[in-house]
Amino acid sequence: MQGSVTVVDHPLIQHKLTLMRRKQTSTASFRALLSEISMLLAYEVTRDLPLTLHEIETPLAKTRAPLLDGKKIVLVGVLRAGLGVLDGMLHILPSARVGHIGLRRDETTHSPSEYYFKLPGDLHERDVLLVDPMLATGNTAVAAVDRIQLQEPRSLKVVSLLAAPEGITNFHAHHPEVPIVTAAVDERLDETAYIVPGLGDAGDRMFGTRAD
Ligand code: URA
Repeated sequence: MQGSVTVVDHPLIQHKLTLMRRKQTSTASFRALLSEISMLLAYEVTRDLPLTLHEIETPLAKTRAPLLDGKKIVLVGVLRAGLGVLDGMLHILPSARVGHIGLRRDETTHSPSEYYFKLPGDLHERDVLLVDPMLATGNTAVAAVDRIQLQEPRSLKVVSLLAAPEGITNFHAHHPEVPIVTAAVDERLDETAYIVPGLGDAGDRMFGTRAD
């Protein structure tokens, strides 16, 4: 089974992504752009959510109108860079539940080790979006999805800003059934597992923590 990858190539997203890639972009602009792109990605990634018809009354008439089916969506942010994506997505999904997964990337082995995990308990009735801006080696996403799937969500997608081809291949080798939605697939990973051309360290750029 080949995994699905959707590249959201909307001109607004591509324009904002280019601004984020530039090394001179300030922390404030980077954060604002990430929030805006995340909103647009949330719009795209939720386009197939099921709807059911409900009786409502407008000021003029009774009618049947669609509402999202089932319990609230769950956004799961991978700490810490996922926080920047959560912020934007919550603007258009204000009632979403939010989970957090802390997976530290070992800078030598590039393997993730878990230090925090907190999700709502009733995932079998909810659609889950795992959000992490950078799908680099894919190891973090694999580990996060392994953990989330133990709770059997109704559906699960991975949403990233940038993905490396190596990360997509690795992720889908483990989880071909989980779709990836991303704003761009870049050229490659470098020897330190950063995405090239990429945008650098997403966490450092959004929080302004880069050691100069
Ligand atoms: N994490 C980042 O923040 N950037 C990369 O390029 C790869 C992983």
